[in-house]
Amino acid sequence: MAEDCIFCKIVRGEIPSNKVYEDDELFAFNDIHPVAPVHFMLIPKLHIASLLEADDSHAALLGRMLTLAPRLAKEQGLDNGFRTVINTGPGGGQEVFHLHIHIIGGGHIPPMVR
Ligand code: 5GP
Ligand code: ZN
Repeated sequence: MAEDCIFCKIVRGEIPSNKVYEDDELFAFNDIHPVAPVHFMLIPKLHIASLLEADDSHAALLGRMLTLAPRLAKEQGLDNGFRTVINTGPGGGQEVFHLHIHIIGGGHIPPMVR
């Protein structure tokens, strides 16, 4: 846990969030500025700043995140698919430096690349 990390504070309950899911390793909560009708983030409770800081020791944890994502998406009503986004580092437009997968869907999802 990182003392000053916003998402670590959300996991600890020090900042309120609209929780979607929690287990011993993972936590999911709605984005405060949703870009679509459903927009939540799935994060590890372990503070990993970004994919740039992830290594082989995190492989199982990252795998769990990817297999949990569709289950949570369906629970949130996204029966027809969803978008996953992981922004990594300043070059990837990351703003909060605690690894997270955005899960986005519902409404119109534009093409990623034109
Ligand atoms: P990034 O650009 O790092 O991939 O995404 C960070 C996301 O975190 C943004 O979509 C932003 O809206 C969201 N966010 C930032 N601060 C908070 C917060 O305090 N609570 C919640 N629920 N989301 C936040
Ligand atoms: Zn953190």
